[in-house]
Amino acid sequence: METNYARIWSKARAYLAEKLPKDIFDRWIAVIDAHALEGDTLILTVANDFYQSWLEENYLPLIRQAMASVCSREFNIVFRVDAGRTVPVAAARMEAAEERPALKAKTDSVLNPKYTFEHFVVGPSNSFAHAAALAVAQSPAIAYNPLFLYGGSGLGKTHLMQAIGQYVSHQHARSRIFYTSCEAFFNDYVESLQRKTTIQFRRKYRTIDVLLIDDVHFLAGKESMQEEFFHTFNALYENRKQIVLTCDRPVNEIRGLEQRLMTRFQWGQMTQLEQPDMETRMAILCKKQEEMKLKLPNELLLFIAEHIRSNIRSLEGALIRVTSYASLLGRTPSMDIVENQLRDILDQEKQRDITMESIQRIVAEQYDIRLGDMTSKQRPQAIAFPRQVAMYLCRDLTNHSLPAIGEAFGRNHATVMHACALINNRMKTDAELRQTLAVLRQRLSR
Ligand code: ADP
Ligand code: MG
Repeated sequence: METNYARIWSKARAYLAEKLPKDIFDRWIAVIDAHALEGDTLILTVANDFYQSWLEENYLPLIRQAMASVCSREFNIVFRVDAGRTVPVAAARMEAAEERPALKAKTDSVLNPKYTFEHFVVGPSNSFAHAAALAVAQSPAIAYNPLFLYGGSGLGKTHLMQAIGQYVSHQHARSRIFYTSCEAFFNDYVESLQRKTTIQFRRKYRTIDVLLIDDVHFLAGKESMQEEFFHTFNALYENRKQIVLTCDRPVNEIRGLEQRLMTRFQWGQMTQLEQPDMETRMAILCKKQEEMKLKLPNELLLFIAEHIRSNIRSLEGALIRVTSYASLLGRTPSMDIVENQLRDILDQEKQRDITMESIQRIVAEQYDIRLGDMTSKQRPQAIAFPRQVAMYLCRDLTNHSLPAIGEAFGRNHATVMHACALINNRMKTDAELRQTLAVLRQRLSR
């Protein structure tokens, strides 16, 4: 059995090797290891979470298809990070044209060689953030300290942050640069507590010249970690060392962030990365295409840029998916491949446009009540039920939290939970309600 999964995987690999362009295969498939087969689930391992998320977002359907075709049955595919593994050679080759080795900072964090200023497309949505990052890279601990970059997922925070690291390490070969996710920082800290090595932990983090901490929203509600973070921050700041932080929201929206940390984050420069406009999205697609040595017809690029607006990672993913799939089929990329391969991303994009307000409005119209009834304190069933339907749809179609939804209806999160449970239950037996919800969803996604 043990060799079984290895054999299956090697067949699937061979299949993919034949179908994919060599550089794509080397870059993304050759670096995967088969780890185990548990029932119908094949567990594959990769070196880090960058690979994991990339593969999950872009290659799952292809890999599933390859497995199905060599085994004549369906498998679930799960990726895991095997932290013990070194980053595969292919990572260093990622930018072969760039002739720049994967950077190993003086400490042991690895920066993605793709994430440099040269690879970053500047447009109105990110020009401030870019300028601030460049200023920090050129004059660490002098320009802005700390630099706080915030914005939604996939808008280039990690990219800019790492670009600072690479820039500094080229300018000042002896600078100690350390990149870490906030979560890894936390794990490191916890481990040092368990092993009673907090002294080493502190020495490690407090002797760095440029500390890059990614995704500090992770600090939300973690008091002991905030404490340690606070001291690290102070030690570095007082020694005039550069600190760069990223976050998926503005500082004052990090739940439960201690006031003293909030104040410190605000000492430096805060810049937001916003959603790119059409022109920037197109420029990014063209640049990525060039870097990956791909060539899609212009009309397809335009279609992708027009429809994927909220996340640059998805833009990039779309490009790869379409090209990989077309080459798997041995066809030139076409509009039907685009629509087919990107259906889920396109659906997500559509949903992003749905606001709680639009839900309230459309549900109110459907049940012929006033918009104000959605938030009023009245409880007659004729109003209460549509309100519950609207809460249910908010939960289902937006990313807002229960308390946020509650607030939009002038109620608390428990009421929203109750509404969702009630509608869920009723749908099981009430065909008319199911029908109404389908109509509402359709109207909302238009
Ligand atoms: P975040 O950290 O904000 O979630 P990332 O920095 O990981 O986003 O960016 C997601 C992907 O989009 C990366 O592959 C990155 O290279 C790319 N990207 C983001 N912004 C730009 C840009 N302005 N130019 C080129 N690539 C970009
Ligand atoms: Mg990031």
